[in-house]
Amino acid sequence: MGRTTTKARTPTCSNCAGTALIRRITTYPVRLTGPAPLTGKEIHVHRVALHECQPCGHLMPTPAGQAKVARCVQRGIDLFLGRLR
Ligand SMILES: [Zn+2]
Repeated sequence: MGRTTTKARTPTCSNCAGTALIRRITTYPVRLTGPAPLTGKEIHVHRVALHECQPCGHLMPTPAGQAKVARCVQRGIDLFLGRLR
């Protein structure tokens, strides 16, 4: 079944497929992966717009939030690699 006439973007949890999501602005932790200096590092991006899944607590940034996360993660990586001037 899957024809929806309205293009309402109802987000679905990518962890449990739940739809009981609430919108929040909160700190979003990102675990870095990659070569040595980045391994195990975690970046906390502050004030990210995201949806929090009620049943499982999974956090999913909105597109705007995701863009901010990407920027901050890139900055964090530069910092860890000593590339900041
Ligand atoms: Zn969930």
